[in-house]
Amino acid sequence: MDHKIVIVGGGAGGLELAARLGRQFGPARVFLIDRDETHIWKPSLHEVASGTLDIHREGLSFMMLAKERNFTFVPGNVTHVDRERHCVQIAPYYSAQGQLVFDARELSYNTLILAVGSKSNFFGTPGAEEHGISLDSTAQAEHFRQQMLHELAAIARQREQNVSPEPVLHIGIVGGGATGVELAAELLEAINGLTFYGTRNIDPKKNVKITLLEGADRILSALPERMSVAAHGLLIERGIDVKTSIKVARVGPDSVEDDQGRVYPVNLCVWAAGIQAPQFLTELGLPTNRINQLVVDEYLRTPDPDVFAMGDCAQAPWLGSDGTLPARAQVAHQQAAYLAKVVAGRVSNGPPHSQPFRYKDYGSLVSVGHSRGVGSLMGVLAGKSLFVEGLLARIMYMSLHLMHHLAVLGFWRTASLAMGRLLLKRSTPRVKLH
Ligand SMILES: Cc1cc2nc3c(=O)[nH]c(=O)nc-3n(C[C@H](O)[C@H](O)[C@H](O)COP(=O)(O)OP(=O)(O)OC[C@H]3O[C@@H](n4cnc5c(N)ncnc54)[C@H](O)[C@@H]3O)c2cc1C
Repeated sequence: MDHKIVIVGGGAGGLELAARLGRQFGPARVFLIDRDETHIWKPSLHEVASGTLDIHREGLSFMMLAKERNFTFVPGNVTHVDRERHCVQIAPYYSAQGQLVFDARELSYNTLILAVGSKSNFFGTPGAEEHGISLDSTAQAEHFRQQMLHELAAIARQREQNVSPEPVLHIGIVGGGATGVELAAELLEAINGLTFYGTRNIDPKKNVKITLLEGADRILSALPERMSVAAHGLLIERGIDVKTSIKVARVGPDSVEDDQGRVYPVNLCVWAAGIQAPQFLTELGLPTNRINQLVVDEYLRTPDPDVFAMGDCAQAPWLGSDGTLPARAQVAHQQAAYLAKVVAGRVSNGPPHSQPFRYKDYGSLVSVGHSRGVGSLMGVLAGKSLFVEGLLARIMYMSLHLMHHLAVLGFWRTASLAMGRLLLKRSTPRVKLH
């Protein structure tokens, strides 16, 4: 009987793994399950939220990818894994119009790889889930974009009526990690763009205020201090209010309150303060940590020899350091390449893979708008890190997305897609307006 490989989650890591294995073993053996029909590169979600990236053009159809890369795509939300019977359980699947497409199903496996990513962690903060918008999915990013357009249109109407005092849209971003920083910068550019295309009577300097609230004493606290300083400077220079050492205690419909009782006016709140893995992982009888990540060893194995986990949903040791691997696309990308070899060995009944997964840190890059970035590249000069800034950092930042496309689509498709997008850019507005 064929060895069946089931990958749950077609994100940054899972899709690359499916594409690699599909090429080798074909659709009768390689199955990818995702709850969405379209793949999006998650680090682009802040651009979807600000309207500078159109999801209808950027998203890649899993069906198309499955045909191209020779795997079987199974749409659906996985709710449980029955490890004794070696099968995953998939919830009933409904079309966008609410019609039942598939009843609840099961899919059996010989090797299972869980790559279900992560979502926002609200840490039980009162009001955060209700009033904050997180950027975990394209639907949420689109929801934010539409709310923002709605609020800006209201401001434009008030200005037409000469309402006094001057109306202000307060956008609060809770969390000064890479997501929060990138979103703040992208929003500013998008709002400047919007006023250029349609709502000309809005003055972004007077009518929009973006505040970034960070709990630690510096933004980008997980990255080198020099990057924090550079990014902080760039944000301030662009008029973004950056507040550090602020512990948000409550989120309301029009404000955010910190643990000292200080209140910040916020009409639109984005929650980007931390992550957690999906809850169902804690119900599989496998060890998980306090943010629901499956605990794996240096071979990315759970204690069940047939179940592996990768990407944001896994807590994996960082060999050569005391810590665990960060939740980053770069990690998921490298783990996909590693697991492709491990799983190929299992399919061909070879000896167990003898090399553990070693993460190669190439550094960190953060985009601060469309033409600027900051970053530190590792091991460039005899093992030392190199600080990069400006357009060069932004171009390097985009290279991670390019590598993902190359792994998933191959060279020619990536090149034609890039060319197509470049041409489309010339005939469409810079910011999605509808
Ligand atoms: C706005 C933003 C900006 C970011 N910027 C960067 C950056 O600049 N650099 C960087 O390295 N990282 C960045 N990240 C983090 C990066 O996106 C993640 O680390 C990376 O996507 C993790 O890959 P993954 O494969 O583990 O999960 P994901 O890419 O999140 O994919 C998970 C997939 O699983 C599917 N799924 C989830 N649950 C189920 C289920 N129960 N059943 C079926 N399918 C399911 C989802 O639909 C999704 O397709 C950013 C994240 C965000 C949100």
